[in-house]
Amino acid sequence: MIRTKKQGLLMVLSGPSGSGKNTVCDIAKKAMPNIWESISMTSRKPRRGEEDGKDYYFVSEEEFEENIKEGKMLEYAKFAGNYYGTPRDSVKKMLDSGKDVLLVIEIQGALQIKEKVPQALFIFLLPPSMKELKRRLRLRKTETEEKLMERFETAYKEINELPKYNYVIVNDKAEEAALKLEAIVNAEKCRVDRIEEVFLDTDEEKLHEELVDKDLVNKPLDL
Ligand code: 5GP
Repeated sequence: MIRTKKQGLLMVLSGPSGSGKNTVCDIAKKAMPNIWESISMTSRKPRRGEEDGKDYYFVSEEEFEENIKEGKMLEYAKFAGNYYGTPRDSVKKMLDSGKDVLLVIEIQGALQIKEKVPQALFIFLLPPSMKELKRRLRLRKTETEEKLMERFETAYKEINELPKYNYVIVNDKAEEAALKLEAIVNAEKCRVDRIEEVFLDTDEEKLHEELVDKDLVNKPLDL
């Protein structure tokens, strides 16, 4: 009786550095193969083990600014002294092909998406405590102590923005947090505002055609 949108769901996941966004997403993506995670562009230098085109598109600050000027970024922000941003074209292509698109981005970028696409789904990942967040950041050994404290202070600021999101998940155990993420995505796919078409199929439905409101449709996202 109804057809839901072919266009995929746009999802934004934020959370302080060290909240476990990547671990949780990697687990959830295995269970939900229709999710495509956008590859961001950054002017940050690659960490050991990170690959260009897989973890990020690593570019110089000048190249990043060129992309901004040319209108190629769906959103971007400066975080801990480096540019980070989402290339627009690949996101649009994936959404139009029916993939659910996940952006794992910090809060300033998330708020730009909210401005452009208020129908997107906004999820915030919290660590179980600030003490645990500090412990996880130290364990990663990817930053100097000074950079680490900067990220820790930013985490407090980011958590203050929590009310701007639709859902919050506390990441105590990554597997449980990933299950919650899956549940949220599944619920979201059942929302009435994803109905694209109401159609009459069987003889029984056609018999009572005048009783059906066929205007119950929703427009696709405009990026
Ligand atoms: P990291 O340097 O730890 O890889 O990332 C730092 C922060 O930048 C994280 O909170 C991460 O989610 C965020 N980030 C990664 N890609 C993007 C992006 O494309 N746009 C924005 N706004 N933030 C991003």
